[in-house]
Amino acid sequence: MSNDFEWIDSTKEFLFCKLCQIKLSGSRFHLKRHERNSTHQKASKAVKTSQHLKSLVGDGSKNKLLKHQIKTAEIKLCCFICEENLPLLLMDTLPLLNKEIYPDSKIAQGVSMKRSKATKIITGVLGQTFKKEVINDLKKSRFSIIIDEITDISTKRSLVVVVRYWSDDHQKIVD
Ligand SMILES: [Zn+2]
Repeated sequence: MSNDFEWIDSTKEFLFCKLCQIKLSGSRFHLKRHERNSTHQKASKAVKTSQHLKSLVGDGSKNKLLKHQIKTAEIKLCCFICEENLPLLLMDTLPLLNKEIYPDSKIAQGVSMKRSKATKIITGVLGQTFKKEVINDLKKSRFSIIIDEITDISTKRSLVVVVRYWSDDHQKIVD
């Protein structure tokens, strides 16, 4: 019976309409009559619409790939800011500019990042990763170290540590 009526909750011992959230009783004839009543019809239509919306959003794997590409773009933008020693303030406008220049790019449109998120990516993700890389490098090579203590404008005290060494992987001197 439940094959004919897909709206019946098969996990329950009694007849239960998943759409109307009510207990039912009676024979096949009664169930057919319930299927035709207006409340049930409305609920059924609503479910179909939401399934249609889900299909519009696209299949999961495609979404996953795009999300990954957006994340990669955000990380690369952060790398660029660090590598060129640019102010983080740029992140308030650069992604918006990209959106305008590349209106057909889903990746550019998906990037949603301002300076506070960029700061978190740089200190929380990139910083940690590159620190590990540098530590591993320094275990294998000789290096010079320069330190300087500073108190910046916000009276936050910091200790700048610069190490300089030859990187075999990059074939250059790294600071
Ligand atoms: Zn119903």
